[in-house]
Amino acid sequence: MSTDSKNEKVRGNIEAQDQDPIAERYETVIGLEVHVQLGTRTKLFCGCENRFGAPPNTLTCPICSGHPGVLPVPNREALRLGILAALSLDCDLQEHCKFDRKHYYYPDLPKGYQISQFDLPFALNGGVRLSSGKVIGLERIHLEEDAGKNLHADGHSHVDLNRAGVPLIEIVGMPEIRSPEEAHDYLESLKRSMRYAGVSECDMEKGSLRCDANISLRQHGASEFGTKVEIKNLNSFKKVVAALQYERKRQAACLDRGEPIHQETRLFDDASQQTRVMRTKEEAMDYRFFPEPDIPPFEISTTEIEALRPLLPERHWERRARFMQEAGLGEYDSMVLTLEQETADYFEAAWKALGPSQEEAKLTANWVMTEVLRLSNEKGLPLSKLPIDPGTLASLCRLIQEGKASNQAARKVFKHMAETGDSPEKALEELGLAQISDPAELEPIVQKVIENSKKAVKDYFKGKKKALDAMKGGVMRETRGRANPGLVSEILLRLLENLREK
Ligand SMILES: [Zn+2]
Repeated sequence: MSTDSKNEKVRGNIEAQDQDPIAERYETVIGLEVHVQLGTRTKLFCGCENRFGAPPNTLTCPICSGHPGVLPVPNREALRLGILAALSLDCDLQEHCKFDRKHYYYPDLPKGYQISQFDLPFALNGGVRLSSGKVIGLERIHLEEDAGKNLHADGHSHVDLNRAGVPLIEIVGMPEIRSPEEAHDYLESLKRSMRYAGVSECDMEKGSLRCDANISLRQHGASEFGTKVEIKNLNSFKKVVAALQYERKRQAACLDRGEPIHQETRLFDDASQQTRVMRTKEEAMDYRFFPEPDIPPFEISTTEIEALRPLLPERHWERRARFMQEAGLGEYDSMVLTLEQETADYFEAAWKALGPSQEEAKLTANWVMTEVLRLSNEKGLPLSKLPIDPGTLASLCRLIQEGKASNQAARKVFKHMAETGDSPEKALEELGLAQISDPAELEPIVQKVIENSKKAVKDYFKGKKKALDAMKGGVMRETRGRANPGLVSEILLRLLENLREK
């Protein structure tokens, strides 16, 4: 999306909010619970591989498929990733933690309970920073195992237990979000934090990030929350926003009619873009939590936390602010360059290789945001695997800076380099695009064009500015577009003034 259309969209949203009649009557209160699968090699309590997309029930053992009498052994790597996630969100790590059993019966949970954390989660507090700078508080983060997956096809139901026992963290946010759009911003920021911290791919299509949302409305200024409704299993950011928008309208209409909101759990139906009741409060689950007897309580030491802290990179919102301040980039450019850590790394390496100034930062940023990201898209390659590395991009930018290549020529050189892996200098030479910036080489060409443009010269002396452009165009034709345009103007004016004096 271009900067303009993006701005257009942002303006549109702001206007829509200004005229939003629901916002005039009610305050929207949203809290999100996000499940993130941790990118460990193995599952949380057994040695089975943690991998998406394997044939059903090929990554299982007696522990994760819930046989009786087995002994779960916690995966230290999962806790390590959980701590990194918590640190990246400024949470307080808890010294004393334990696992609990959360009981419910479902075909994808053969042992009849899930090992989770109830009253002693491993992290409390912390927050998620929105792009506006507003921070949405977190209540807690706990570690738990994923359930399997039910598949319904051809009139049959199947259970795949490959996902059973995959480590999850559940990030429970405070009800401090005030619109569906803010909820979207929250999820984007949270996802970026998890990816920067290296704890999860957060690929919603593969289910490695999933979201439940709570929403209620209340009169402005009210101190009590309204009755909340929970919307379960939202598996894309788009669905989160659509479900919350629908639910907000539905609840406002109920309240307008003086009807009570029922505390219930609802599901979002993609086809109708509506939510419908899944279960009411009366049917609410009683999980009968109790401490997991097979796993002793565990501790997180300060030494362990301090050993992990240096592994965290600069956070995405800190980096964005630094790009604006240090590199002098606009808000939009800084946002695009920090969407993924590897884009930010690529930009920064190329910028540092080119030179320290903000002008050089701007030139580099433009190239990364257009040609480099486009190439990565076209080739389906991460930036680290591109045939053009940051140092090579810097060399190309230097050719532009030194007037050896026009912007247009540089784009052709970039394409050529992407195919051949040549250096910018060699590609420029091979394509015959080297810009002529040597006055001694250009002057005879300009001279020849003036001699062959009797009418244009006459017009120029009569004060017709367009005549100059015509002669300039002649020089560009003669040099097949390779002449340095600034230099051509300079020489043209000088030679013409010499003529006038004669
Ligand atoms: Zn297993």
